[in-house]
Amino acid sequence: MNIPLVDLVAQYRCLRPEIDDAILGALAEMQLFLGRNVHAFEQEFAAYCGVAHCVGVGSGTDALHLVLRALDIGPGAEVIIPSHTFFATAEAVALTGATPVFADVDGTTRCLSATGVEPLMSNRTRAVIAVHMHGQMAETASLLEITRRHEVPLIEDAAQAHGARYAGRRAGSLGIAGCFSFYFSKNLGAYGEAGAVTTNDAALADRLRALRDHGSRTRYRHDEVGLNARLDEIQAAVLRVKLPHLDRWNDRRRTLAAVYDAALAGTPVETPATLEAAQHVYHHYAILAPRRDELADYLRAEGIGTGIHYPVPCHLQTAVAGAAPPSLPQAEAIAGRVLSLPLYPELTEEQVERVAGCIRAFYRGGEL
Ligand SMILES: *Cc1c(COP(=O)(O)O)cnc(C)c1O
Repeated sequence: MNIPLVDLVAQYRCLRPEIDDAILGALAEMQLFLGRNVHAFEQEFAAYCGVAHCVGVGSGTDALHLVLRALDIGPGAEVIIPSHTFFATAEAVALTGATPVFADVDGTTRCLSATGVEPLMSNRTRAVIAVHMHGQMAETASLLEITRRHEVPLIEDAAQAHGARYAGRRAGSLGIAGCFSFYFSKNLGAYGEAGAVTTNDAALADRLRALRDHGSRTRYRHDEVGLNARLDEIQAAVLRVKLPHLDRWNDRRRTLAAVYDAALAGTPVETPATLEAAQHVYHHYAILAPRRDELADYLRAEGIGTGIHYPVPCHLQTAVAGAAPPSLPQAEAIAGRVLSLPLYPELTEEQVERVAGCIRAFYRGGEL
């Protein structure tokens, strides 16, 4: 039986009556412009994250871009970000006209660390974005310490970390703002493009509400140039059905990750580390594998899907003219070896054992 990297049909099958009702209900009401479901979801997601405000936006990229805009970051400014992240983190900085400054990541967490940030701080640094990569929280206490010392805000890119905790607090509640994506394959996914910003800062939330709607607070009065970047009502209706299941899904991801950890012990692959202070939510179960591409081919031949998140670190992308030290050894080493194995809440322990068995066979020389 084939084992895909993610299986969205399995989740839809479990929730189908509720999802269908929610979508049809939104259509029946036809309040599609910042309607009832958007407002309710914003309150529910703020409560879930333990923050005062949530602003629904069009995507995770919009969330990052608008937070930077709301902090008045633009041309001339530098924003320090990890190189090991999805390209959108860098893109959001570039879209404002600011310069992304790429930091190496910590080899254990694979996230931004204070040690990586410190040498890059300059008098043009206006913000630092920590990405909670693969669902693993960045070492946030030391990042908060260094950003406070340099008087710049810490933004969390929590697009892969819905529900993760650091010292008991949820991803998105630690920095000045948390940026979430609800892209369909994320731990909390909509069925189209969607995102949100979480924050305890009322003025920032107010600015974001204007920026997501053409810079408007009152209909046809535009205080500044914004974007069309609103969360849509149908996506919000879907997200409201899914949010109550998120903790259970994340628990299940942790259970399955522990099965992988045990089954891959003693093989040449490096399994994901977990921080003492944090709770991982395994958006990806990302191993570091010698002969990664051969392993992926071998697994594909066995009917097992894998993903590479991501093959090219951001500082080596042609699209963004960023600033970075000549080489970022950790980010480059991760990009060359990282491989995400199948992981989703509906996966079974037996399927995880089968994937791990194939990996063990590959490193033994191919015999199953
Ligand atoms: C998915 C993702 C984004 C972008 O989210 P979209 O909703 O696809 O725009 C940004 N940062 C990270 C780390 C992501 O994984």
